[in-house]
Amino acid sequence: MTVPTAAISTALAAAVEVLDAAAVAGATVVLSGHVQPDADALGSTLALAEGLRRRGARVVTTFPAPFVLPESLTWLPGAADLVPSDRVPASPEVFVSLDASSTGRLGDLAGLLDSAGTSVVVDHHASNPGFGAVRLVDPDAAATVVLVADLLDGLAVDWDRDLATCLYAGLAADTGSFRFGNTAPGTHELAARLLRTGIDHAAISQRLFDTAPFGWLPLLSLVAGRARLEPEVGAGLVWTWATGTEARERGLAGDQLEALVDVVRATQEADVACVLKGQDDGTWVVSMRSRGTTDVARVAIGLGGGGHRQAAGYTSRLDREATIAALRQVLATGPAN
Ligand code: MN
Repeated sequence: MTVPTAAISTALAAAVEVLDAAAVAGATVVLSGHVQPDADALGSTLALAEGLRRRGARVVTTFPAPFVLPESLTWLPGAADLVPSDRVPASPEVFVSLDASSTGRLGDLAGLLDSAGTSVVVDHHASNPGFGAVRLVDPDAAATVVLVADLLDGLAVDWDRDLATCLYAGLAADTGSFRFGNTAPGTHELAARLLRTGIDHAAISQRLFDTAPFGWLPLLSLVAGRARLEPEVGAGLVWTWATGTEARERGLAGDQLEALVDVVRATQEADVACVLKGQDDGTWVVSMRSRGTTDVARVAIGLGGGGHRQAAGYTSRLDREATIAALRQVLATGPAN
């Protein structure tokens, strides 16, 4: 791991102190990832919850509504114990937010930041504005599970295969299987430690990245056929779109739209790849990836969202053409402050 800064070390110690005290007291700790949780959000939630449970805490794991778990993550150890956000105690001793870059990403659970006895925010998004009582936020961490691994060490919880499986899922997902620029020597050192517990990393990766119903292929054909290249916009833009309805028509869950951007972003002529994902309420969730020149976190923040330098997103209430027009403008002129 990279040597943590003094501020991160202090935040880590403060978070361990709160969580250790809660465990010793047998207190209720509610843990949640962000809305529409991914492998890092869920892996962080389930690993830390299991560690705290073993240390004596009463843990409740959840995520913001809607309570729909992506099919690719239902097998994570502990996932069966997740409860819908409306069944969470209103005033737990501790609330832990994991991988949420803003209070908005906590959806209907954001109120727990105030109603809980105290709160711990664990995150690695550069766009995190700072919220919660104890803030363990490290933009240099490749994934939130990296910070959870440090917390488990601080809590003196041994890593077994179940914990390691949750941590590895988040690490592999957020580093693009160790291909993205956030992968550092410490990332591989953490992966090595996880593999030594005996986890089946090949099976984890297959479930996360290489498993989809057959309907994925016709959906990919539709979306790839619609892609438009606009090399003159910023450092080049490639974009396409799909709706949850189109996914369902091919027998797919709406979350199958998430992986589309990973295909589109291979386009050599465009620095920014973008997929507009049409939601049932008429809004568009916009996923962006950068090949390196464009800071898409800044672009997303300018449009009301957030994320990382090379992977970010936001929600648009405009129609499809107006959504892409607004994005073109920001990419052409740079995000407004
Ligand atoms: Mn993450």
